[in-house]
Parts: sequence; C-alpha cells; structure tokens
Amino acid sequence: MHSKARLNITVNKSVLDEAKKAAERKNVTISRAVENFLRFFAKPEVYCFKCGEKFSSEEAKLCPKCGWMICPECGVCRCNLSEDVAIAVFHMRRVYEDLLAGRVKQS
Ligand SMILES: [Zn+2]
Ligand SMILES: [Zn+2]
Repeated sequence: MHSKARLNITVNKSVLDEAKKAAERKNVTISRAVENFLRFFAKPEVYCFKCGEKFSSEEAKLCPKCGWMICPECGVCRCNLSEDVAIAVFHMRRVYEDLLAGRVKQS
C-alpha cells in the first residue's frame, strides 16, 4: 500500500523556481521529483560499471583492499579496473555523493 503523506519543506526560492521550470520541461510534478529523490536518498541504487547490473548500495559489500562496493552480480570492484577507468568512475560517482550529501557507502 502506498499512502500519501504531506511534506512541508523550506528551500531557497531561486532553487525552487529553477526546479519548477525543469519539472515543467520534463513533464513531472515537483512532488514526484522530490519523491524520486527521497527514494534514492533513503536507499541509493547504483549500476555496476562493468556488467550494468543495478544493485542497492546498502546491500553491497565493500572491498577491504580498495574500499569500493563490490558488484553482487559479477564481483567487480576498483581492483579489476585500469587506472584510467578507475579515475573516470571515481569522478562520476562524485555526482551521487554531491546529491546524497555524503559518500554513497561508508566503510
Ligand atoms: Zn557487475
Ligand atoms: Zn577492490
């Protein structure tokens, strides 16, 4: 069952104005956009950079050697990547971390 709850939040006005414009362009409501974000915030899911499998960061194990999440499907972590690829993945993951206001998964 998915009952709805009301959320009263206060945000920066210009942020909200920009978000409303973006929501209009994407044809989604602000409520829907916030709900999507909150779902991700509470239970972040990531795609494996090797096999593409989607997995929950909460359930993923961290590699004791490199400190990255290990894909539960193919078992890949940073240890299996070349330096160039590891750097690219590291920087892309920072987008998540900015969104989540912290690490995707902490050791
Ligand atoms: Zn994988
Ligand atoms: Zn590793």
